[in-house]
Order: sequence, then C-alpha cells, then structure tokens
Amino acid sequence: LADRLQGTIQRIKGKGKVTEQDVKEMTREVRLALLEADVNFKVVKDFVKRIRERAIGQEVMESLTPGQQVIKVVRDELTELMGGEQSKIAVADRPPTVIMMVGLQGAGKTTTTGKLANLLRKKYNRNPMLVAADVYRPAAINQLETLGKQLNMPVFSLGTEANPVDIANQAIEKAKEDHQDYVIIDTAGRLHVDNDLMDELQQIKANVQPDEIFLVVDAMTGQDAVNVAESFNEQLEVSGVVLTKLDGDTRGGAALSIKAVTDKPIKFAGMGEKLDELEAFHPERMASRILGMGDVLSLIEKAQDTVDENKAKELEEKMRSATFTFDDFLEQMGQVRNMGPLEDIIGMLPGANKMKGLKNVQFDEKQLSHVEAIIQSMTKQERQDPSIMNASRKKRIAKGSGRNVSEVNRLLKQFEEMKKMMKQMSNMPKGKKGKGMKF
Ligand code: GDP
Ligand code: MG
Repeated sequence: LADRLQGTIQRIKGKGKVTEQDVKEMTREVRLALLEADVNFKVVKDFVKRIRERAIGQEVMESLTPGQQVIKVVRDELTELMGGEQSKIAVADRPPTVIMMVGLQGAGKTTTTGKLANLLRKKYNRNPMLVAADVYRPAAINQLETLGKQLNMPVFSLGTEANPVDIANQAIEKAKEDHQDYVIIDTAGRLHVDNDLMDELQQIKANVQPDEIFLVVDAMTGQDAVNVAESFNEQLEVSGVVLTKLDGDTRGGAALSIKAVTDKPIKFAGMGEKLDELEAFHPERMASRILGMGDVLSLIEKAQDTVDENKAKELEEKMRSATFTFDDFLEQMGQVRNMGPLEDIIGMLPGANKMKGLKNVQFDEKQLSHVEAIIQSMTKQERQDPSIMNASRKKRIAKGSGRNVSEVNRLLKQFEEMKKMMKQMSNMPKGKKGKGMKF
C-alpha cells in the first residue's frame, strides 16, 4: 500500500497548485491500494469519495500549500478509517476480569500476554494472573512461566495433559481465591486457521465468558493478517485487535483494512520483543507512517521517555525551527544512545525511508564514535554553520578525527538531509502537528 502511495504523494507534495487531474490521479492510487489490500469495496468507495470532495473543495484549493493540504486530507481520512484511539481494557463488575488471547501461532500471543499483564499492573495497578492454555507445545508453557518469573506474577498451568477449558475454569477459581483481579488466558494457535482450533477456542469462550477477546495479529504478514482477523472475528466475535511487530519495517497497511473489514478496533501495538514494548494504537500516527511521513510523534514521545523533558522540548523547538546544529547533534547523541538503535530513531523521521543513503549506512556503536570524533574535530564555528565547510577544513577535520574525508563528507550530507527533513516537519499543517504531544 505504502509503496503505491509514495510515488503519487511525492509528486503532489511540493506542488504549489493542485489540479483536479492531480486529485483524480491521487484518489485512483488510493482506491487501487485499498482494494488491493482487500478493504471492503463500499468502504473504499466512500473513502475515495470523501477524499475527492475535500481535496477538490475549498479547503485545499484555496490554501497556500495545496500539495500538503491534499496529503493532510488523505491522512485525516486514513486516521478516520482506522477508528479512534481505543486502548481501554474492560473491567468486570465482579473480579476477576477475564481476557482471552487468540491468534495464529507465532503472532505474538504469549509475548503479548506478558506485555498486557505488565501494562495492567504498571498503568492500572492491577494484579494479573497468567494462564497457560496452550497445551500442545510444552515449550509454550515454559515460555509463559518464564515471563511470569520475569514479571513476578503467578502463572496457572496444569501441564500438557489437561483440557484447555478445564485449565481456564480452574484458573479463574484460583484467581478468585487469591484475589487476582485479572486473568489473561494464553491460548494455542495453529499455523493456519482451522476448525479444530476454532472449536477449542469457542469452547473456552463459552465456558469462561471472557470480558475481552484480544486477537493478536502479526503486522508483518500484511494482507494475511486481514484475512486471519476476518475469520477469527467471524467465529469468535473478538473485542479488539493487537497488532504486533510494528517495530519491523512493515508500513502497516494491514492496520487500515482490519478495522474496515472486522469493524473491531485495533487497541494495542506491539513494538518489540520486550515486556514494556506494548503501546496504545494511535491511528493518526499509523496514517502518517503509512503515508511515509515518519512517525514524528512516536519519536518525540520516545525522546521524552528517555531524555528529560526540558531537553526534549528544546530538541523539538530546534527541529521545528530547523536551527539544529552539530553541537546539538553531539549533545543529543549521548541521549540518542539511550533511546535504542539509531536506525530505529532515524527510521521514524519523516522521509527517512526515501533516504537511500541513510538506509545503507550501518549505525553501529563504532560508527557513532566515528561521528562523534568527526564533530569534535570541528571548530565552534563549523559546528554552528557547516556551510562554511571547504576542502581544507574538511581535510583538517578528517586528520583531527582520524577518519577520511569521504566520511566527513558523508556526515555533512546526512546532517543536511536531516535538517531538510526537520524543516519539512516544521512546515506540517498547524493544529495537526501539536496534537497528542504532551508538552
Ligand atoms: P505465539 O505463538 O502467538 O504465542 O507467539 P509468541 O508470543 O511466542 O511470539 C513469537 C515471536 O514473535 C517471538 O520471538 C516474539 O519475541 C516475537 N514477537 C512478539 N511480539 C513482537 C513484537 O511486537 N515485535 C517483535 N519484534 N517481535 C515480537
Ligand atoms: Mg504462544
């Protein structure tokens, strides 16, 4: 989906004047992309109609930056298509609240069970119990028990011989006795949707009457994820979807169709293998990601988590006004290191996926030290204003840092690209930009 849209968007982005023809072309791409993603035909039709009306209407044609405005319209509508933000988790009138996790093998059920339990405790102050109802693979039980140990939470298991329905029932009884207010049942998956699996899940559902059924789907599987979501929802009437592995390089087109096809909200997004890498699903950010504009809000939020708040604010200001210098770059680098792999961070910047040069560079620790050395070999003036850089300055810097001139050149180029992107960001439509930011 993203690939398809990228080209058109790139063309339209900088346009000072958008013609009806441009809009037509754009909406055609959008329409094809959605149909290709198996989004329901009627949904697509309505969607395209709304875009066309808004894009050809005054909102766009009379704005100063119509190109940007069209993209904003598409982004708004994509956001709408994915539904509002809905990360609420049910609370039963009488505890325990029962959550059943379902999905195909390898989708991330067990991992998400642990993550969800972690979230429930951290954010909502709850005491979850984990239940090992995947009896087909001994390793599955061990995996959950390991997670339970890590989290210091009880794991209920009756081994591999017991019936999953009995396990679930007994687990709930035990939770009542022990005053555990949430029970999260990790069920078995299969490689494909099949009747045995659905029968078993339906039996568990009928017996325990869960307050939530979370369907876990792997975002990397793209279109398959949508089909899987559809069949699980038909058979089990799930209450929400968790989209995992969004930390990968998928652009997440599945997210669009899932809501449209199942009419069930995507509640959470899995952003990594670790237990704290589960986030509320943000349709607006997802829309931006799909449009390849970079997940700026996530980036800033991540910065905020790691960097102290004033620093993050300062950084954000600098990005906005594009007065970011090499000194800032250097200062941020230490903190960036705490945020995780630099590649991930860069990947979240707008347009990063377009920057082939950046993508091919391996951002390992060694590389970071080289970059640091190069910047440290610059004079104060050079750091503030790299435009004064000439051949002899570059040579001096290379010598000082023990790197060669081509590396210096590369860094300068990357830095310029980065500034350019920051500038683009600061040109983002007002109102949208600040939404969801906490400072
Ligand atoms: P299950 O078979 O559905 O229970 O799937 P698991 O929970 O065992 O997960 C399968 C694999 O996916 C494991 O290696 C997990 O670490 C990995 N995984 C799960 N969620 C995520 C995620 O959000 N991001 C990444 N990168 N890996 C994930
Ligand atoms: Mg599992």
